[in-house]
Amino acid sequence: MPNLKPNCPHCERLEKANRGELESLVWQTDHVIVIAGDHQYFPGYCVVIAKKHIREIHNLPEAEALAIFADVMAVGRVIERGFKPLKMNYVSLGNVDEHLHWHVMPRYHSDPDHKDHPWKNAASFATRLTNSDAIKQIRSIFSTS
Ligand SMILES: [Zn+2]
Repeated sequence: MPNLKPNCPHCERLEKANRGELESLVWQTDHVIVIAGDHQYFPGYCVVIAKKHIREIHNLPEAEALAIFADVMAVGRVIERGFKPLKMNYVSLGNVDEHLHWHVMPRYHSDPDHKDHPWKNAASFATRLTNSDAIKQIRSIFSTS
């Protein structure tokens, strides 16, 4: 793997994925891995992680940046098809983990705060932690898409 950084949680996930040891891995392309989010407060929530440790997408060669955007959109389409959400939220901040990634969060009518930002109810995320059944369900949606 090119350009991985010690003590970066996303680089650690990439190394685990490379060794076939990342349980949450649901899909990958040339440029990204896709993992089930650590909770399923929003069923189908995934995280798209660039295969390079880079902070800003605008510093990538344009073709690579566009390929990553295409991957993120493909992830959104798969989740939409599999989970039928009301709306998709794509969130790329990187203020804490400075490694390019997107939280791809499906939002539902059943979430009373679906018009608000997805972290409004973060205190409740731990009540719906991702388990192996959820990972298998998400992986199967990607494998049949
Ligand atoms: Zn990294």
